[in-house]
Amino acid sequence: MITQKAPATAVDPAIARSLAHAVPRSFWLDQPDAPEPLPALAGSVTADLAVIGGGFTGLWTALLARERFPDLDVVLLEAKTVAWAASGRNGGFCSASLTHGIGNGLERFGDEMPLLEKLGEQNLREIGETIAARGIDCDFSPTGEVAFGTADWQVEGLDEEAVAARQLGHDVEVLDGPAARRELNSPLWKGGLKFTTGNALVEPGRLAWGLRRACLDAGVRIFEHTPVTSLTPESSGGPSGDRAMMLRTPYGGVRAGMVALAAGVPGGKLLRRIGAYVIPVWDYVLMTEPLSAEQLDSLGWRDRRGAADLGNQFHYFRLTRDNRVLWGGYDAVYYNGGRVRSEHETRPETFVVLAAQFFDTFPQLAGVSFSHAWGGVIDTCSRFCAFFGTAHGGRVAYVAGYTGLGVGATRFGAQVLLDKLHNLDTERVRLTLARSKPVPFPPEPLRSGVIQATRSSIARADRNEGKRDAWLRLLDRLGLGFDS
Ligand SMILES: Cc1cc2nc3c(=O)[nH]c(=O)nc-3n(C[C@H](O)[C@H](O)[C@H](O)COP(=O)(O)OP(=O)(O)OC[C@H]3O[C@@H](n4cnc5c(N)ncnc54)[C@H](O)[C@@H]3O)c2cc1C
Repeated sequence: MITQKAPATAVDPAIARSLAHAVPRSFWLDQPDAPEPLPALAGSVTADLAVIGGGFTGLWTALLARERFPDLDVVLLEAKTVAWAASGRNGGFCSASLTHGIGNGLERFGDEMPLLEKLGEQNLREIGETIAARGIDCDFSPTGEVAFGTADWQVEGLDEEAVAARQLGHDVEVLDGPAARRELNSPLWKGGLKFTTGNALVEPGRLAWGLRRACLDAGVRIFEHTPVTSLTPESSGGPSGDRAMMLRTPYGGVRAGMVALAAGVPGGKLLRRIGAYVIPVWDYVLMTEPLSAEQLDSLGWRDRRGAADLGNQFHYFRLTRDNRVLWGGYDAVYYNGGRVRSEHETRPETFVVLAAQFFDTFPQLAGVSFSHAWGGVIDTCSRFCAFFGTAHGGRVAYVAGYTGLGVGATRFGAQVLLDKLHNLDTERVRLTLARSKPVPFPPEPLRSGVIQATRSSIARADRNEGKRDAWLRLLDRLGLGFDS
């Protein structure tokens, strides 16, 4: 049940009823067979590689480290429980894109896009292969995806986008209004873009739990409820003269030759430079009760393709295996000062807006209730895709900034971390994506002012036929942005 302060204006009684029984937890983690937490680290241990963070980046890093370097002794430390943060709260769109979409990639990495797309497709294929080989029951479904336009300005450029996507090898079809409504029945659709490749849907909680199991089977030592409180080089060298990294935890610590920092935004507390590039943006999600056969039929969602709309403030939506609809996005919220507090995990005013938009989009579902309503932090950077770096003489490698498209890209991020820690010259680490950084955000309080101004401009553009005001045009020219 939602317990926060009420929205400022009176709530439509039908919307209020639809939300009245929604529990404020991620549906993906709110499962009766969730694994028992593993014990916290008690005492001091040594490892060749310590991974900080048990989201997708950390889990893939630990698992791939054992697969690629079988002699490596690997420890994974998670502050709460595996997939507790973004990895257990997302929409479950597992995209091949490493660049937050083709448009963003072409703008920023131009000539490298064919290689980035090839590596992304390979990454997605290998995710599917690992899931199959390890028997991870996470409903991995390579559905492709479809984007729907609800206004003329959103569908005008779709032919051009399709040409660019085809040049990069995608199977894509431009839909007119009737074709879009045959794909998924909403009176709002004016057209769309359908990709039959490049995206799979997964149950993210079960994928993370399966990777956790795979890590344990591969010999990774995982400690949950074990926040790393400091990360410093050893004061004097070990027997061979090497100075390892020391990780402090509440009841012990780890001495490790290499560290993969895979903690998302909080990674900035352990390595300050990360904090300049990444901000916590809250994104909110609703999940319906399972639809009846009749309600499902009224949607005509035969190919069960993952979907989004094409506004700057966009929604993403999909079916689950038990025929619920997940509906999230739109309201990317930055709390001034970059605050991340547990009370932000629910936001009634956003849930009310999301629910109203859901019923506007699918009026045939009037009367359906939401079972879950939750929020999570997106690690947002100004170029919308991951950045990498090393610290402490190359003994620490870090990644952050996936900006809302990390379910698939985190596995690629893990490969780059391992390449960097082992000082390997791979085509991955030679990419501009892996070598360059986004433009940093200004420090607070300027940061909050800039972000809130950008949010308002984006909302205004959506209301104003997509027209970008002077502020957004300036950011475009500088290659900067704000997104979820
Ligand atoms: C609501 C929402 C919807 C999204 N939808 C999608 C989607 O559909 N598709 C998509 O591709 N992406 C989506 N994303 C983004 C995606 O979830 C992330 O990009 C991805 O999960 C990032 O994984 P990660 O492992 O890097 O970070 P996280 O999942 O944030 O994991 C980091 C972990 O590090 C731990 N940690 C932090 N500090 C410490 C410390 N000091 N010591 C030990 N552990 C620490 C945290 O507890 C956390 O478990 C969404 C995100 C949200 C919030």
